[in-house]
Amino acid sequence: MVGPVSQGPVGTSDVVVVGGGAAGLSLAHRLVETGVATVTVVEPPDGPARPAERTWCYWDHGDDGDDAAGGGDDAFDEAVTATWPLLRVHGPDGGPITVDPAPSRYRMVRSTAFERLVHARLERSPGGRLLRATADSVRDVPGGAEVRCTAADGRPLTLRSRYVFDSRPLRALPPARTRLLQHFRGWFVRTRTDRFDPAVADLMDFRVPQPRHGLAFGYVLPLAPDRALVEYTEFSRTPLTTAAYEAALGHYAREVLRLGEFTVDTAEQGVIPMTDARFPRRAGAAVFRIGTAGGATRPATGYTFAAVQRHSRAIAAALRDGRGSVPAPHGRRALAMDAVLLRALDTGRIDGPAFFTGLFRRTPPQRLLRFLDGATSVREEWGIGLRTPVGPMLRTALEVPFLPRRPHPAPGTGESPR
Ligand SMILES: Cc1cc2nc3c(=O)[nH]c(=O)nc-3n(C[C@H](O)[C@H](O)[C@H](O)COP(=O)(O)OP(=O)(O)OC[C@H]3O[C@@H](n4cnc5c(N)ncnc54)[C@H](O)[C@@H]3O)c2cc1C
Repeated sequence: MVGPVSQGPVGTSDVVVVGGGAAGLSLAHRLVETGVATVTVVEPPDGPARPAERTWCYWDHGDDGDDAAGGGDDAFDEAVTATWPLLRVHGPDGGPITVDPAPSRYRMVRSTAFERLVHARLERSPGGRLLRATADSVRDVPGGAEVRCTAADGRPLTLRSRYVFDSRPLRALPPARTRLLQHFRGWFVRTRTDRFDPAVADLMDFRVPQPRHGLAFGYVLPLAPDRALVEYTEFSRTPLTTAAYEAALGHYAREVLRLGEFTVDTAEQGVIPMTDARFPRRAGAAVFRIGTAGGATRPATGYTFAAVQRHSRAIAAALRDGRGSVPAPHGRRALAMDAVLLRALDTGRIDGPAFFTGLFRRTPPQRLLRFLDGATSVREEWGIGLRTPVGPMLRTALEVPFLPRRPHPAPGTGESPR
């Protein structure tokens, strides 16, 4: 299954994973822990080329054996920074809707804690390895694939393996009918008095001024009664300047949340594509794309982390069973629904804040979370669909299949400096 390494002090492995971010580390962890394959993860050395620290949130599904992070075994518990049993949405009129999705809980993993955990597990596993190098090219070769990279000391290295899973960000998004961006900036704040309820995560707070195009909301993840991640997010076509995010965040923290005196410890900023582009999963006979580059980001929500865990499990199963292909990270129905929703939002046919608030108000919380995870049945989806603005959604659904996918300008990188 394994080819020789042509240069450098690097041993062999069945699989090379290019990029040790959310998708690369999740897959490597899965393959090594289940003993399906030996793995080398190629990740650049620490420095400006690596993404800044991020938080990844997802919901686990309690004790039902389908934990998004580990397939029922709480694999990443040690990296979980916070957990919220209750979810809340504030409608544009200010009215809060609080839902209890038990046994599911919303959880936050910080990327540095996740990296530490998976790096340590790779290190102590005989089948796992982390190689600090920058991949320059990936290509098919007879019997597998080859990754040419540059090591931390500048030496060139060539790795050969049966399969390569590549999570490097794409240079440009593939052609799409709709391309929105989920762009945001958040502050880790510390207030002088207790201002937060650590049991409740505010997923969408529409009490912020709405942009002319798209929608905007606040997002509050309490870490303690006096500490929280407070974000301002837009779904629209263009990111804001840092100064504009700061102004929007200041308004949200002071005028809407009325936090009183507070300090900002650090900030997090990002851009996540929301698009109905088709992300090719296969980049060669033995080369597959994973993560955001492989279409794992759910178009209508930007959530990726949970999908990456499910996808890692599916890839591990495919390799174990000797299948030479890997399944898509999202089902066709989920992608078709997202294409309609994105188009309806982009054209302004539906009112985003009213739509999302209505979804939370009218859908049982467990079903809503399964819907967002792409795990609902057709019947459940009809039930949810009939409670949305049927006319505009139907018109959009009829139009979308006839619209061409067009190239769009590059969206920029996923993160910007803090
Ligand atoms: C600030 C922020 C917050 C987010 N929050 C959430 C959230 O709460 N929940 C959620 O579900 N999703 C969230 N997302 C979306 C998504 O989960 C993340 O973008 C996630 O990191 C995507 O995983 P990935 O593996 O595809 O990419 P990344 O995690 O970015 O990993 C790509 C890796 O490739 C490496 N790399 C790049 N070039 C090379 C090269 N030449 N050679 C080798 N390696 C290379 C990079 O260093 C990086 O480690 C967030 C995104 C951002 C930007």
